[in-house]
Amino acid sequence: MASIRTYRCTHTLCRFELYLTRNMPVWHPETPVRLQKLPVPAEAQQYVTGYRSDSFCRYCRKAVPMRDDRVCSQCERGGIYEEEGGRSCPTCLVGRLMLVHQSVH
Ligand SMILES: [Zn+2]
Ligand SMILES: [Zn+2]
Repeated sequence: MASIRTYRCTHTLCRFELYLTRNMPVWHPETPVRLQKLPVPAEAQQYVTGYRSDSFCRYCRKAVPMRDDRVCSQCERGGIYEEEGGRSCPTCLVGRLMLVHQSVH
């Protein structure tokens, strides 16, 4: 199931927010827009070329595809994590990231 997770920094003066997706369908370029919905409709399954989950790269400061080798596909540096909850905030370095919301589709 696809989900979107929202993390927020615990430091009250920072409140940095991060959104990461899990298991989001990757649509074939010719997928009709009306079928690009969550959850994936049965008739749209044939257009899904794969599923993508995001990790946060602290060097690029953005969401990048999660990979088994934990290396960022943009900057080729290691250290991306599957779970950001409980990790230190990349902005203020004082607070920690807490999972505050998760929407499941
Ligand atoms: Zn990177
Ligand atoms: Zn912070």
